[in-house]
Amino acid sequence: MLQIENKDKFGKVVADALTKIELTVTDAGTKKRWINAIAKATAEIEENGVFMTWQSEDHSLIIWSQKSNNIYTANGHCQCRAFEQGSPCFHRAAARLVRLYLEGERTETASIDAVSSQAEEIPYLKNGSYIKAERVGSVRIN
Ligand SMILES: [Zn+2]
Repeated sequence: MLQIENKDKFGKVVADALTKIELTVTDAGTKKRWINAIAKATAEIEENGVFMTWQSEDHSLIIWSQKSNNIYTANGHCQCRAFEQGSPCFHRAAARLVRLYLEGERTETASIDAVSSQAEEIPYLKNGSYIKAERVGSVRIN
C-alpha cells in the first residue's frame, strides 16, 4: 500500500513532472499523452494508493489495476497495452512520480545530515572552541 503523507510535496513533484514534459517533449501529441498520463497517475495514486506497492530494490511500482484485474510492475517499462504500442501510460508516470516523491524525502534528510557534518568542520560552530582566552582580567595566561 502506498500512502502519500506529504501532499504539498507530492503536488510539487507533479508540477515539476508537468513542467519537464512541457520543456522536453516537442511532439504535441506525445506531450498531450504524457500530460494525460501524469494527470491520471496523480489521481490514481491519491485515490487507489491502496492497490499500489513501491519496491525500493528495483525502483518499480506494482499497480493492481481494478479495471483490468491485471498487475503491472512499472519502472521505465510496463506490461500494459499502451506501453506495447509505444505510448505513454499512467503506470510509468505513476512509478516516476512515486520515485521522485520518495527520493525527495531522502534528499532532504541527506541535506540535513550534510549541514550538521559541515558544522563540525567549521571551528566557530564547535562548542566553546572559539573562545581562546589570552587574558583573564589583567593577567596574561597565554
Ligand atoms: Zn502501463
